[in-house]
Amino acid sequence: MENIAPALLDWFYKNRRILPFREDPTPYHVWLSEVMLQQTRVSAVLPYYERFLAALPDIPALAACDEEKLHKLWEGLGYYSRVRNLQKAAKIVCEQYGGQLPADYAALRALPGIGDYTAGAIASISFGIPVPAVDGNVLRVFSRLYNDPGVITDPKVKKAFTARVMEHQPPEKAGDYNQALMELGALVCVPNGAPLCDVCPLAGLCQARAAGTTAVLPQKAKPKPRKVLPVTVALVESPAGFLVQQRPAKGLLAGLWQPLLWESEHLLQAEVLARLAALGVDTGTAVPEALPAAKHIFSHIEWLLSGVALTVPEQAAPAGCVWASREELRTTYTLPGAFAAYKDRMLG
Ligand code: SF4
Repeated sequence: MENIAPALLDWFYKNRRILPFREDPTPYHVWLSEVMLQQTRVSAVLPYYERFLAALPDIPALAACDEEKLHKLWEGLGYYSRVRNLQKAAKIVCEQYGGQLPADYAALRALPGIGDYTAGAIASISFGIPVPAVDGNVLRVFSRLYNDPGVITDPKVKKAFTARVMEHQPPEKAGDYNQALMELGALVCVPNGAPLCDVCPLAGLCQARAAGTTAVLPQKAKPKPRKVLPVTVALVESPAGFLVQQRPAKGLLAGLWQPLLWESEHLLQAEVLARLAALGVDTGTAVPEALPAAKHIFSHIEWLLSGVALTVPEQAAPAGCVWASREELRTTYTLPGAFAAYKDRMLG
């Protein structure tokens, strides 16, 4: 196939979106933006990106940030392991590289939370190193460009596609080329709905377009069905606020805060009251009110939430819990999006 870079780059320079991390692509900016953009759309990321950088303008500031503040800065983006890995890596960068990301693909790849794609993006965009940065957008473009039915979630197929990506990469414009491919995938060779082939700079070369197969490419493995788990929530409120507890330091939603809850159990109101009493909560004459049912989808699990709200007399919090006022829930304790259905009620 004819080299795609000239037409692709020409299109990119005329059509690229102006984004803050593109205008000032320091290694920290590119790193942060790429981590935020995993699982999240650009438009949703922008306000978080600005707020995060205003609070933590460089890698040493990120390394030194306390956990609650870090979670608050990420609140709303979800997948909190991303920000915890970001900080773990920042600490290593401070210890080993004087607070600056190394201009070396393998050294970047060795940092927590930095995979092939993110290492490639930082190395090529910020340091001009000619390496690939192949994300889902790029795989989709190459699947269609070569009319290749390979299953893009298969590591062997990804490797073969990556080799093709590199056949076209101009070494002196590695970062622009990688970004142009991602941008084409995001704006033109789109994932949902028909690709916009009429405005595609690669239309004349595209084998899927010629074959009429764009709608069935790329091929992906069927996702595994998610495990569905019932979760019973108790929104316990006293004059001191809501009773919340911190989740364990490892595992799902690690270190974040939550109302009292019982995972994998659908409890009746009387059972919730009994569980609260067993924890030492004086429920007084509280009459529980049923909470609306809600659903939250994680990557491999689906929570079906139900539960009760109740108001109890002022008392000490049971072990491992705190009473958090609405103000503290807004500013200090991070409640993950899994509890979005109950947040209005808790935050006021
Ligand atoms: S011509 Fe259409 S299918 Fe082919 S790369 Fe361009 S947008 Fe994608």
